[in-house]
Amino acid sequence: MTQAVANIGVVGLAAMGASLSRNLARHGNTVAVFNRHYLRTQTLISEHGSEGKFVPAQTLEEFVGSLTKPRTAIIMVKAGEPTDEMINALADLMEPGDIIVDAGNAYFKDTIKREKAIRARGLHYVGCGVSGGEEGALLGPSMMPGGTDESWQTLGPILKSIAAVAEGEPCVTHIGSDGAGHFVKMVHNGIEYADMQLIAESYDLMRRGLGLTPEEIAEVFEDWDKGDLNSYLVQITSEVLHHTDAKTGKPFIDIVKDQAGMKGTGTWTVQTALELGVPVTGIGEAVFARGLSSTVELRQEAQVKGLGGPKVEGAFSASAADPAERKAFIEDVRQALYASKIVAYAQGFNEMEEGAKVYNWKLDLGAIARIWRGGCIIRAKFLNRISDAYDSGEQFGSLLFDPFFKKAVEGAQDSWRRVVASAVAAGIPVPVFSSSLAYYDALRSKRLPAALIQGQRDLFGAHTYGRVDEPGIFHTLWAADKSEVKQD
Ligand code: NDP
Repeated sequence: MTQAVANIGVVGLAAMGASLSRNLARHGNTVAVFNRHYLRTQTLISEHGSEGKFVPAQTLEEFVGSLTKPRTAIIMVKAGEPTDEMINALADLMEPGDIIVDAGNAYFKDTIKREKAIRARGLHYVGCGVSGGEEGALLGPSMMPGGTDESWQTLGPILKSIAAVAEGEPCVTHIGSDGAGHFVKMVHNGIEYADMQLIAESYDLMRRGLGLTPEEIAEVFEDWDKGDLNSYLVQITSEVLHHTDAKTGKPFIDIVKDQAGMKGTGTWTVQTALELGVPVTGIGEAVFARGLSSTVELRQEAQVKGLGGPKVEGAFSASAADPAERKAFIEDVRQALYASKIVAYAQGFNEMEEGAKVYNWKLDLGAIARIWRGGCIIRAKFLNRISDAYDSGEQFGSLLFDPFFKKAVEGAQDSWRRVVASAVAAGIPVPVFSSSLAYYDALRSKRLPAALIQGQRDLFGAHTYGRVDEPGIFHTLWAADKSEVKQD
């Protein structure tokens, strides 16, 4: 008979599950471990068994039997059907009050459905976003658990024991009920897409526009990391750009295919934003930019057809030649990156605010910014400013209205405009820089040409319009005498 000694269990011991189990064991937890094929379990124990207390199980029954009550099991198997199968298999063996945690990248609507089904069986179901990849899982991830308050009582201390620590605080907080954790993780990833694309656009402007070498650009990013842009993504950008391909001796960046992959969380963020009616233009353009990079045949065809560009393509000849101008342009790019990044975060946080309303979650946006300061991919110094903004308790519709960010963007905007204008003139695509600037300009415009669109819609489809000087809904009799009819 198996003894119940483990306070936590992990199912699925591939890269993520093995790292998470080791992290748990290293922090004083007794960890039950199970994998479909026992070999992975054996490997984990033989290679890392000395790092803490593990309880290896050959069967799921043995695994469940080795957990203390309330039994808490973290699932780290392949997303989709395998996760569903594992949830059901565990639920069949568990008892009311036990907790099943899905720490994979699940779609939050699936988590909502799964939570409902598992709750009906008297168990707790926690969809937990985990960011930081394999290294984060081992050394301290940022974690975004959803689920009930009751499950957080048991799970909270365990997750706090293994989370990354930023400024003395663990990077985990109870996000909200059912799918809230996976929703917030999804938006985190959407912001990550925008952040990465902005860095890539900055690189392109310096490489093609100024003719800098990857090594020189790596140094620029190193320098940027010392200021407002200090972040993990900027740091790893320097590392990638410094790297030389061992086989060819060329810069690594030049031997990598320029086709960006994606696993779906960026797409979910944009699809969800469209459903919620939140314009996440920066994230959207970042997702499309990855998609466009991978339209290989279309891009090859464009080369064959020789689609024409500007006369001097891809080079800012004046700025590139003069060291002072070059320095000034690099500073412009830094400012443009900072401003566009603020827009991407503002849009992502708007999506969370709207999601909270629609799905009935009480999201603490200040706390979410705080748990993203460590462990996760978008960890950055600037998240302190976001948490300050939300913690101030002031009601504002956008981060762009917060005094700190308002001033930062206003200060950066001349640079931002110069960068977008130079890129457009040189034919270098900067979809997230330019769409973020367009978003900013649209937001601050007193009147938008949407009035004309309303006129067109009323003319061809009798879709009606509102008037600026009178409440109500109106329709113009375009085909007749163009008189106006009030609809209500
Ligand atoms: P994989 O996604 O590669 O999945 C492999 C694991 O799933 C193995 O343990 C495998 O068992 C198990 N598995 C596959 N099919 C089944 C099945 N039908 N029944 C039982 N077990 C099955 O592992 P990763 O470690 O890369 O990722 C685990 C989860 O974490 C995924 O949901 C992934 O999306 C998520 N993830 C999250 C990241 C993050 O940063 N948060 C990063 C990477 C992944 P076996 O060894 O027997 O084949």
